Amino acid sequence: MTDLKMEIQYVKGVGPNRAKILNKLGIFTLEDLITYYPRDYEDRSKIKNISDVQDGEKCSIEATVITGLNVRMLGRYKSIEKAIVKDGTDTCMITWFNQPYLRTQIKRGETYRFFGKFQVKNGVKEINSPVFDIIEKNNNTGKIIPVYPLTYEIKGNAIRKVIQNGLSLVGNLDEIMPQYILDKYNLISYNEAIKEIHFPKDFETFRKARRRLVFDELLTMQLGLLKLKSQNNNEIKGIKYDKNVNMSDVINDLPFKLTKAQLNVLEDINQDMESEKPMNRLLQGDVGSGKTVVAMISAYKAVKSGYQVAILAPTMILAKQHLNNFNKILGKYGIVCEGLVGGMTAKQKRLALERIENGEADIIIGTHALLEENVIFKKLGLVVTDEQHRFGVKQRSSIIAKGENPDVLVMTATPIPRTLALILYGDLDISIIDELPPNRKHVETYAVSRRLENRVNEFVKKEINKGRQCYVVCPLVEESEDEEGPKLKSAIELAEKYQNEIFKEYRVEVLHGKMKPKEKDEIMERFKNKEIDILVSTTVIEVGVDVPNASIMIIENAERFGLAQLHQLRGRVGRGEYESYCILKCGSGNELIKERMDIMTQTDNGFVIAEKDLELRGSGDFFGTKQHGIPEFKIANLFQDMEALKEVQALAIQIIGQDMNLEKEENKPLNKLVEKTFKEKAEITI
Ligand code: ADP
Ligand code: MG
Repeated sequence: MTDLKMEIQYVKGVGPNRAKILNKLGIFTLEDLITYYPRDYEDRSKIKNISDVQDGEKCSIEATVITGLNVRMLGRYKSIEKAIVKDGTDTCMITWFNQPYLRTQIKRGETYRFFGKFQVKNGVKEINSPVFDIIEKNNNTGKIIPVYPLTYEIKGNAIRKVIQNGLSLVGNLDEIMPQYILDKYNLISYNEAIKEIHFPKDFETFRKARRRLVFDELLTMQLGLLKLKSQNNNEIKGIKYDKNVNMSDVINDLPFKLTKAQLNVLEDINQDMESEKPMNRLLQGDVGSGKTVVAMISAYKAVKSGYQVAILAPTMILAKQHLNNFNKILGKYGIVCEGLVGGMTAKQKRLALERIENGEADIIIGTHALLEENVIFKKLGLVVTDEQHRFGVKQRSSIIAKGENPDVLVMTATPIPRTLALILYGDLDISIIDELPPNRKHVETYAVSRRLENRVNEFVKKEINKGRQCYVVCPLVEESEDEEGPKLKSAIELAEKYQNEIFKEYRVEVLHGKMKPKEKDEIMERFKNKEIDILVSTTVIEVGVDVPNASIMIIENAERFGLAQLHQLRGRVGRGEYESYCILKCGSGNELIKERMDIMTQTDNGFVIAEKDLELRGSGDFFGTKQHGIPEFKIANLFQDMEALKEVQALAIQIIGQDMNLEKEENKPLNKLVEKTFKEKAEITI
């Protein structure tokens, strides 16, 4: 077998130039090349009769040329080539452009196989620029052809050829999966899978190949995460917090009664904190379920045991809000909270850094500024990240490195179905707050079409006249995307229209991602202080902000958002004592959109919404995959392959349960694979 680490340049058909292009696609070695999987397949295997071909159909025919190739030159470089072919059922006209050399290849009386897209005009069949083969040869037709992710620098044909050359170089690939797994799950060999995924004999074989490779990929990822978790639990020594510091000191002093769910979660956290293993816990809880107070109480325990706490917030607005709230609740216990946000003067910042380093500051709340090198803690014991999906795992680990195996609490408001949570956060323990505080207001939700726009506007005016405020959220779009679908409203455009026409007598402002942090902050501050009636924004307001006086959330082009995201946005209202409303404006209404909007109007349970969203959309950007830090897979698709994921999870739990470090002889090859994957995806480890 050829060394899979061999540089791509030594594969036949790859010179220095092409190597560079392949490098850009992430292909450096022979192994990268053979694991560069097709994104699709074109079935050129079935031969149709010309008489059966439909307009617009892509298929193959076998036909004999009945006229010589007619070449018409149009100026010096341009030409049209035409031939007529027949197959005993009908005739068909074939046209090529600018390929006069075909004169020597397309011969009268010869039979070829052509593949391309057919047009039928007035019963006359035509095909433009088909690929073709002489019947005995099967280079371009007569089989299933892989289609690779597009790039304009290298043509499909060329990359197919290079991959074919690569595959013929490697010979027989070693098996990496233990035999007992292959048998139990009825998987084909790695060698066969790799070859068939590129050039499948038929679609049945393709399915088997894909299943095998998906299985490998998911299993490796799940095993790696579980291995990490069990090592964390068994091998790494963390901080043991003081058993005599009681969370109930704060709990009993709060202005409200904690929910049962909050208390349960705090019990999990307390146990983690008092044990020697470092806490690595994900805290999931719907918007408004009261995660912040859980973080506060955990912070109290850490500080009173002699440690510092870092609270990482995704936006400055939120960091400031936390700082206020922490001070309000914890200030009275002599705990010092320090903010570290952008926009501080150099002197303020220097003093804050000093207090963090000498230990005067107990709880440090900030944005990404906390990750900077010059932030040095005296004794960091607990790290809390709020709204995890805004932070890469890498960022999480760089703050963790500022302490010595500190405890980590990751909070997220995005409800994640359990199967997915296991792969997204497989290295973490999970606690869920599945209940809202009793005083929470139900948000009346309506889905409306454009026709009702005036009524909505009148309603907004009525609410503002009562003293309330209103959010209007627009999807994030580049102008150029507008052309196809219904006209989408950009935040700036819409704000202008509101300011100048519809809501002239009211105070309308706009907030969007391209503004400077300081500008955003000012606008938000003014909104909080009731100096703005209507805040038109992109989704920058999605996370965490608390403006109890705002009672209306209007979402433009709601069909553009994921349900989970709509739910997050809706959570911005209903935070005060007032009746609150969420109005989902939809551009166009097909059945699927209607069904999705119905879910929003019928339930306010985030978990139900997330499950439904996944079920309905099936794939694609269920809460924005990138943003969520879902590891990128080469072939597996967490949505499409949900069944495989479940199978793999059960298997991974069983394997790790019996062989935590994957040391058994039969698991050694698996371990190698896990280590390799995790080295390559280093950002996943913490
Ligand atoms: P989230 O989970 O979305 O971060 P927050 O922690 O911001 O929610 O809580 C929302 C609001 O609910 C805050 O004003 C908080 O003080 C309040 N809150 C939290 N827990 C309770 C409770 N058990 N009862 C009443 N109000 C609570
Ligand atoms: Mg929050």
